[in-house]
Amino acid sequence: MAVIKGAVVESLQAPHNGHSYSVALRSGESETQRDLGLFARYKCDALALAVYLLKQFRSLGIARLNDARVQRLAFDLANCCSWMWFKQHPSEYRSKLFRADFCNHRLLCINCSRRSSFVWLRRLWFRIKGVRKLHPGARCYSGVLTMPNTADLRGGILLLRSSLIKLLNRARKKGTGPLRHVLGVVACYEVTRGKDNFWHPHLHCVFILAPGQRIDATELRLEWSKLTGGRQIKLDALLKQEDLLEVFKYTLKTTKSGRDGLSLADRSLAYFLLLGTRLRECYGLFRGIPDDLGDSEEPGEDVSSWNDIFYRWAGVGYRRISSLHEE
Ligand SMILES: [Zn+2]
Repeated sequence: MAVIKGAVVESLQAPHNGHSYSVALRSGESETQRDLGLFARYKCDALALAVYLLKQFRSLGIARLNDARVQRLAFDLANCCSWMWFKQHPSEYRSKLFRADFCNHRLLCINCSRRSSFVWLRRLWFRIKGVRKLHPGARCYSGVLTMPNTADLRGGILLLRSSLIKLLNRARKKGTGPLRHVLGVVACYEVTRGKDNFWHPHLHCVFILAPGQRIDATELRLEWSKLTGGRQIKLDALLKQEDLLEVFKYTLKTTKSGRDGLSLADRSLAYFLLLGTRLRECYGLFRGIPDDLGDSEEPGEDVSSWNDIFYRWAGVGYRRISSLHEE
């Protein structure tokens, strides 16, 4: 049986349902093969991270870490997505990931980060539709809010959060400030490295605004700069569900691999520095969107009559197996 090696596929489509997602079509490949290619690629990344942690975690200089905790984390990462259960439509043109053994370390593991993002984005999209029913004409905007690069990553994230909360409180209590027309906000904190090698924490937001209203970008830039020292903000209208994917493609950019992602060392360091910090928060009419990945998803379409296809990790890619009991 052929082993499907990791493929390089980047563009993302909206999720079919809460538990699955797919990637853009490439001629000659089935949906399952394309999904597996991405899973394999990111599983290799998790394996590299596991090896890095086992060999190098002491060089990160984090005193409270102990061997047992790091070994457990590395074990979880190395074993994430070791098997996958797909449901394939009888036409073979469509398939969905049905079950897999995810490690759920979404701030380190790209497969788990992507899954978490897609599940959560679907929930957000339903909430946006609900808010628009209550407030016909309400429009969404994405915003990126920055602060000066810093050596104190945790302090930077806390400054971003407290600054956003100050502006929201001013809007709620006094009806003033640049966010006074905002009905709800989702805030996701992200981290990259600046050219000066300091951390670059920043904030990706989705705002939903009262009908006919807008955020004054000049006013927001001025007020934000007073609070954080950050001068760069970016505001864009969000029109489609796919636009949200661009905003929240990853739970945290520390899990982004590739040229503009962080190194294994920085990803590990950021993970431990930010342990226990909430990196996705909801305010106003977006408050209360569940963050868990339980079985309480909307069922989506009925896949009970679809064919079962099983794969197991085989060292360099996934090997098809007849059942999950087969070694
Ligand atoms: Zn995982």
